Amino acid sequence: MKRIAVYPGSFDPTTFGHLDIISRSSKIFDKLIIAVITNPNKKPYFSIDERVKILKSSVKEKNVEIESFHGLLVDFMKKKNANVIIRGLRAISDFEYEFQMALTNRKLYPEIETVFLTPAEQWTYLSSTLVKEIARLGGNVKCFVPEIVVKIFKNKR
Ligand code: ADP
Repeated sequence: MKRIAVYPGSFDPTTFGHLDIISRSSKIFDKLIIAVITNPNKKPYFSIDERVKILKSSVKEKNVEIESFHGLLVDFMKKKNANVIIRGLRAISDFEYEFQMALTNRKLYPEIETVFLTPAEQWTYLSSTLVKEIARLGGNVKCFVPEIVVKIFKNKR
């Protein structure tokens, strides 16, 4: 049986931290599906099409698929025959929210497991929010995100 994992997130935008987690998890699972979520509680800076396009041009691993989705993650997972959720853990500050999500998803769908991966040290402080803040203030974000993100930021200004 194929081991299929789903890495859900806003990816608004994709950073080198996300790409690090994608690379690590693609080595552990037969197939990794990146599920780009439209979170009704967050107003994204990048449109869903932009976020998917960024990922498609930045992810090089062959066993990775990229899709957008709305609705319940567990329903998406059932449809895809996936039973592992990948999440990135950076600092203690991520823990409380991630712990709550993992246990809630388990309640909704007991067969799934959430697997937490930690990125390379240099990305442990990096977040999409931080990148947007720097870009908005005119700073250079080249060392945090793929080139395509830098370009889209420039076009939006
Ligand atoms: P969400 O809105 O679901 O938190 P994000 O795109 O912000 O979406 O994050 C998706 C996942 O990637 C989360 O598990 C988050 O902790 C993880 N992540 C975000 N940035 C990094 C990073 N720099 N290193 C490792 N994991 C990260």
